[in-house]
Amino acid sequence: MRCFIILYLCLGLASCNSTTSESVIVFADNPVIAHRGAWKAKGFPKNSIAALHEAIRLNCTGSEFDVRMTADHVLIVTHDADYEGLEIETSTYEELAKHKLPNGETLPTLRDFISAGMINNTTTGLVCEIKPSKIEGRNIELANKTVAMVKELKAEAYISYYISFSYDVIKRIKDIDANAKVLYLDGSKAPEELKNDGITGLDYLVWKLKHKEHWVKEAKDLGLKLNGWTANKEEDIDWLLAHDFDYITTDEPELTFERIKVASERTD
Ligand code: MG
Repeated sequence: MRCFIILYLCLGLASCNSTTSESVIVFADNPVIAHRGAWKAKGFPKNSIAALHEAIRLNCTGSEFDVRMTADHVLIVTHDADYEGLEIETSTYEELAKHKLPNGETLPTLRDFISAGMINNTTTGLVCEIKPSKIEGRNIELANKTVAMVKELKAEAYISYYISFSYDVIKRIKDIDANAKVLYLDGSKAPEELKNDGITGLDYLVWKLKHKEHWVKEAKDLGLKLNGWTANKEEDIDWLLAHDFDYITTDEPELTFERIKVASERTD
């Protein structure tokens, strides 16, 4: 009996420890999401680990990045469909990675990128955009492999959102990970449709949101998250702040923090 009690206590302590180690990140209490990392002010390459580190240093609540898959099914972090003149979906990772990023970094794999985001980061959520594929069937594979990678790295707590222009991708992510938070990027679906499909919120172009301003209230009433991209001009940032958006996705995180300060001084 005593052995059982000791074993039970050990298991209890072990599970407490693992919970603690997986909950080291609390997303910063601000709406600023650095778009492809905080790359602009210091001249880092977009989607580089250096730009991710800068977003963490700035205390952004999120750092966004783009995921694509190579011909040999390696998930990488890069924006365009081609890289250094090579089409990503028809090139191997080895072929692509011969070309370094302008700051000397190796073209990041998703594994390297997420791993970097789990070190010395207690504030900044990873906002993972999955770029739709042109190849039939690959969108589902992209969703499956991305979620599997996050699970393998035990990075669930670090991924604040999955986002995509592909509705199939975000719906698939919800199917395989009910706890995942997903935002739709395309701007074509009304809040009610997103809510009915179990989508966490909308992440739309600022001008589309201005054009359909009633969606802002509808989304809030439905409890959906609101994010706008890409707000780089003061007037757009101020508009999103005035409408109390949960998130502002921007190439100008420093300016966004300044505008938040101005807005809070106005209301004080
Ligand atoms: Mg993106």
